[in-house]
Amino acid sequence: MLYPERLTQFTKEHSDTVAAIACGLLLLLGAIALHLNFFGLALLLLPAAYVIGGYESAREGLTTLFQEKELDVDLLMIVAALGAAGLGLWQREYHLIIDGAILILIFAISGALEGYAMRRTERSIRSLMSLTPDIAMVLRQGREVSVSISQLKVGDEIVVKPGELIPTDAVIVSGYSSINQGAITGESLPVEKTVGEEVFAGTLNGYGALKLKVHQPPESSLIQRVIKLVEQAQTEEPPSQQFIERFERSYARLIVIAGVLLATLPPFLLGWDWETTIYRALTFLVVASPCALMAAIMPTLLSGIANGARQGILFKNGSQLEMMGKVRAIAFDKTGTLTTGIVQVFQVISAGNYSQADVLKVAATVESVSEHAIGKAIVKAAVDLNWVSAVEVQAIPGQGIIGINNMQQVIVGNAAFVQKHVTNLPEELQKSASVLEEEGKTVVWVAQGGMGRQGGQGGQGGQGGKKQIPISPLSSPSPLSPPSLSSAEVIGLIALADEVRAEAAATIARLKALGVEQIVMLTGDNQRTADSVAQSVGINEVYAELLPEDKLDVIRRLQKQYKTVAMVGDGINDAPALAQASIGIAMGVAGSDVALETADIVLMADRLEKLAVAMDLGRRSHGIIKQNITVALSFIILLLVGNFLGNVNLPIGVIGHEGSTVLVTLSGLRLLK
Ligand code: ADP
Ligand code: MG
Repeated sequence: MLYPERLTQFTKEHSDTVAAIACGLLLLLGAIALHLNFFGLALLLLPAAYVIGGYESAREGLTTLFQEKELDVDLLMIVAALGAAGLGLWQREYHLIIDGAILILIFAISGALEGYAMRRTERSIRSLMSLTPDIAMVLRQGREVSVSISQLKVGDEIVVKPGELIPTDAVIVSGYSSINQGAITGESLPVEKTVGEEVFAGTLNGYGALKLKVHQPPESSLIQRVIKLVEQAQTEEPPSQQFIERFERSYARLIVIAGVLLATLPPFLLGWDWETTIYRALTFLVVASPCALMAAIMPTLLSGIANGARQGILFKNGSQLEMMGKVRAIAFDKTGTLTTGIVQVFQVISAGNYSQADVLKVAATVESVSEHAIGKAIVKAAVDLNWVSAVEVQAIPGQGIIGINNMQQVIVGNAAFVQKHVTNLPEELQKSASVLEEEGKTVVWVAQGGMGRQGGQGGQGGQGGKKQIPISPLSSPSPLSPPSLSSAEVIGLIALADEVRAEAAATIARLKALGVEQIVMLTGDNQRTADSVAQSVGINEVYAELLPEDKLDVIRRLQKQYKTVAMVGDGINDAPALAQASIGIAMGVAGSDVALETADIVLMADRLEKLAVAMDLGRRSHGIIKQNITVALSFIILLLVGNFLGNVNLPIGVIGHEGSTVLVTLSGLRLLK
């Protein structure tokens, strides 16, 4: 019972393979029958071979012809085969019928092989998806109930046991465990996670039992979004492929016209006999068809995308993969990209009568709403101190943050930014800052004041005072503004340390080895800090103290010189530059949605060495495509010349033509490895 069922299943999935096998058997038997002079039997078997082997291509070819009014090369093949059969019957040269059937057979075999190749890339992409379980154990009135994923609601609490797959994106509410996020990041080293941290659907829970709270609808989980992006990437055709397809359409017409001329003129012009003429015209139809050219690009790019996805490198479409192979200059953001982005307060220096704790406290009041790594580090360092969040807080990307605390303006940020709000930066502090910056530390200045007296007079209630004074963080105090607005004073500085990624230097070296001509660093941070970090990773060209739009300008300039420029970044301040670059590459997807949306390539694992892997993959794809096109064109030219000189008969033409098509398809599949 089971066996026929499986057979039907197999036949359905591999109908192209089955058709090719049947066609081959019928052809073999037909040829034997012909050899033994059983003409009746041969005339039954051979047409059957034509129909079974050619049905699918003929159907598709005719659909294209009638619906889109376009000729496709499949149809040319069928016409060539039928032409050979017709010629055979007419001239009573029955071996021509066999030649035509061989054409159909080889065409069917190569079609089946290509089908197999496509199914393989698809399967390897789909294997990403099969990782999410279908059901989750949900806590309902203290009991575990199994619920299908699609029915999970935001707020549900679910239980995940050791060794189980995480069913949907959620936040840990109790327990801790090490989690293998390989499905998403391609990185099998487990990551420790505990209460408050986010876990992702499709990742594998380690030894701990976890209670999770669902915080977003299951259909918008990270893995689902990634899968959607990969699927989209598959359907979008890169410009090079579109070019080839347009080329195919006009080319197919050209072949038909040339074919007709070749079938009619030579007897008059060259004195060929009709049989030779028509035979060569049919062979021409076959060998001139650009099948191999058509197969040169897409299988290669699809395999590359699938390979990348397995390693945690998300290419949003095939053209970016191809483009990655042409990159000649790369710009790196510093904080969070070349460094871990896990910033820690290294030292606090206070000014005047203020204590170090004062400096931290005041800074924390505004940083409490910041998403910036610097802000988080300051808040963490000030967590045991007593403070409340400031109001009217405004972050200025790439510069600093400002707000009102206790009737006073608080300003935290880089020197240039803070300087706009204070009369001067104390000299001893500037000296300490230089020393710290030379060691690669990031220094932020903390200032406060400027509206204390006035706000105090404005009304004890507070709200009145706040409304009266417009805070415009961008406008620097002009000499004409009331003294109360410009009298903010520096109360100290905070030096932050951010470790350079362990893999940064090796990755930069690898990129240089791969032939990238220019590598630069772009940062909003101070020049000295930037130089120190750049030196430790092997970057010679540094652009520091940049605002987000300055980063974009640098990319533009690089593009003038190097054409294809990649930008690697992680933060909101990098978004304009990521968008401007030929390829925007974002680091680490867990958490930052900006990255997933604006970047062309996402390194899911948050590991820099994946950049070299992506580059290598791009180079290889680009190389294989070039190779494929060369092979395809050489075969076509070789066969055309051979045919004209009479050295190529139909079966050899077909083998050469289909052989080259299969060759380039398989060559593209090499990227799956
Ligand atoms: P990068 O380009 O290296 O990622 P950013 O552009 O995010 O750095 O920031 C540039 C500089 O602006 C920082 O080095 C810091 O001095 C200042 N800055 C930015 N945001 C903040 C903030 N929330 N608090 C304090 N300083 C900040
Ligand atoms: Mg950054």
